[in-house]
Amino acid sequence: MPRPMKVLFVASECAPFAKTGGLGDVVGALPAALAANGVDVRVVVPLYAGMPWHRFERLEGPLAVPMWWGSARCAVRLARLPRSDVRVYALEYRRYFDRPHLYGPPGDAYGDNLERFAFLSRGALELAKALGWLPDVIHCHDWQTALVPVYVNTVEWAQPLHGAATVYTIHNLAYQGVFDPGALAVTGLGRELWHPTGFEHFGTLNLTKAALYHATLLSTVSPTYAREIQTPEQGFGLDGVLASRRGDLVGILNGIDVVEWDPRTDPHLAARYDANDLAGKARCKAALQAEAGLPVRADVPLFALVGRLTGQKGVDVLAAALDRVLAWDLQLVLLGTGDPDLEAALGAAAARRPDRFRAWIAFDEPRAHRVEAGADFFLMPSRFEPCGLNQMYSLRYGTLPIVRATGGLVDTVAPYDERTGAGTGFLFRDLGPGSLADTIGWALSTWWDRPAHVAAMRRRAMAEDFSWARAARAYEALYRDAWARRRGRPFA
Ligand code: ADP
Repeated sequence: MPRPMKVLFVASECAPFAKTGGLGDVVGALPAALAANGVDVRVVVPLYAGMPWHRFERLEGPLAVPMWWGSARCAVRLARLPRSDVRVYALEYRRYFDRPHLYGPPGDAYGDNLERFAFLSRGALELAKALGWLPDVIHCHDWQTALVPVYVNTVEWAQPLHGAATVYTIHNLAYQGVFDPGALAVTGLGRELWHPTGFEHFGTLNLTKAALYHATLLSTVSPTYAREIQTPEQGFGLDGVLASRRGDLVGILNGIDVVEWDPRTDPHLAARYDANDLAGKARCKAALQAEAGLPVRADVPLFALVGRLTGQKGVDVLAAALDRVLAWDLQLVLLGTGDPDLEAALGAAAARRPDRFRAWIAFDEPRAHRVEAGADFFLMPSRFEPCGLNQMYSLRYGTLPIVRATGGLVDTVAPYDERTGAGTGFLFRDLGPGSLADTIGWALSTWWDRPAHVAAMRRRAMAEDFSWARAARAYEALYRDAWARRRGRPFA
């Protein structure tokens, strides 16, 4: 019997316990999919305020974590990922994590974030040693755990963990963990790492850069984003480093939770449906129109957007296109929160055309389900999109995405070809109000002139497989590759 591979996830988020975005979804779902394939996976996260700590088992003895100022003694709590046996260890250290937010108030960061996440990174390694459970691979995620590969290569030198391969996954390169040079001392590491192939990046301390040099292998959350971040347009200053490691960098598309997002069973919907019987989708559309206070009409196409109202998502471009788009006979609903200026602009536009446009400035998961099910077309005019989840939810709900050709959107939405009817959505390249409006117009004319194409695209979209099982197989291959590179022989 070959022994199972041991993989330790170290992350700052893990759904459903703590989540602000896609990173939390990945860390909450991928370990269970790996475990189903026989991988021995465990997860380490901080114990944040608001997590259901009373449902976590308290493990014996404090764990001592070396910090720059001495030794931090923390408690360790243990839970399991829902619908799986995967162990989740939460490091309990109130001075760092008993706060109202994960990283800081909206638009702001806690001043001691480097220290907080140095603690998490170092603590995860100390925990593995204390448990006597030495991972073959340590998988870390974004800047908050970027110190892990560096610690494995330095403070663990000639220790048991030194043999562990490290995989560093970029979920969003816009966040790199940049600090003042003097903060290097807070990592507990020495000045010898202060150079351009370590932490130093144009005079700043950059945690992501150090991880890009120190990790055994690198990954990001879609194949197209893996290519784009090697270019100056999308590399946020690290494109050169990434290009220099292009042979060690892969893009693996995120999965989605296909139980939570299933139009056949979704409890949030007015009616349930599948690809063979779309009568339920028509009822969801009518219900959504009524909920939005829009005329209940089956014939008019209903467009939707759900997401963070930020520049990354291209919501400013949509706002600039609205005058043109809302002159047409269509309907638009929007659900999101974000930049106050964009919230105000969209709210004002909706107030001008209440018969065509409804904007909900809110975060509301059940409503996100109702919007995905009730809409005909889903808008994602993103400036950049590492993977994106909403377009996959849309496809699964038979709602055709209209997306900018960037990142994971390219890898998930097949372009419509109006001669053959092939494809699952509408893609456009130039990010501007003109080309977005043109593409919405293209979808509109397809709706009126080629309804058979819309129906065929829907059926095709709903048949796609975006389960985590597919992604888990790709990660397993990546872990084996990382192990072999670290040890110089294949994992048996
Ligand atoms: P990102 O992680 O960049 O924000 P994704 O498309 O990867 O974008 O994932 C966004 C997730 O957050 C999706 O699950 C989406 O449904 C959800 N979401 C975003 N905004 C809202 C909102 N206002 N209400 C409900 N869910 C939202």
